[in-house]
Amino acid sequence: MAGEPQADCLFCKIVAGEVPATIVRETETTVAFRDINPQAPTHVLVIPRAHYPTAAALAAGAPELAADLLREAHEVAVGDKVDETGYRVVLNTGTGAGQTVFHVHAHVLGGRGLQWPPG
Ligand code: C5P
Repeated sequence: MAGEPQADCLFCKIVAGEVPATIVRETETTVAFRDINPQAPTHVLVIPRAHYPTAAALAAGAPELAADLLREAHEVAVGDKVDETGYRVVLNTGTGAGQTVFHVHAHVLGGRGLQWPPG
């Protein structure tokens, strides 16, 4: 069923506390933790507790949860004090865009100048 935990999903295991992560914020619906391979001084992943593989699946299946993800991305930026200098929220969607973990996650990147267009 949509949103149910998946036994083989790494980020479901982080939500369940079965895989360690450096958690920076938690809400009833989301978890935010530092990326293990940071690409900027602030690099935090915000995930829904519920399992949706991609941003597209989340937007279609639980739009209110998509809003929670964006709200939490901003709270992470405020917590790391990068909201005023600027930060980027990235949702890689599909392998061609670089998605490697198929439990939707918003990358929050900040703390350095960010180039555009991205690679
Ligand atoms: O968008 P993409 O699917 O490539 O992002 C997955 C991210 O999850 C990577 O940036 C990777 O460093 C991160 N990751 C993590 N903790 C893990 C496994 C992956 O932060 N245990």
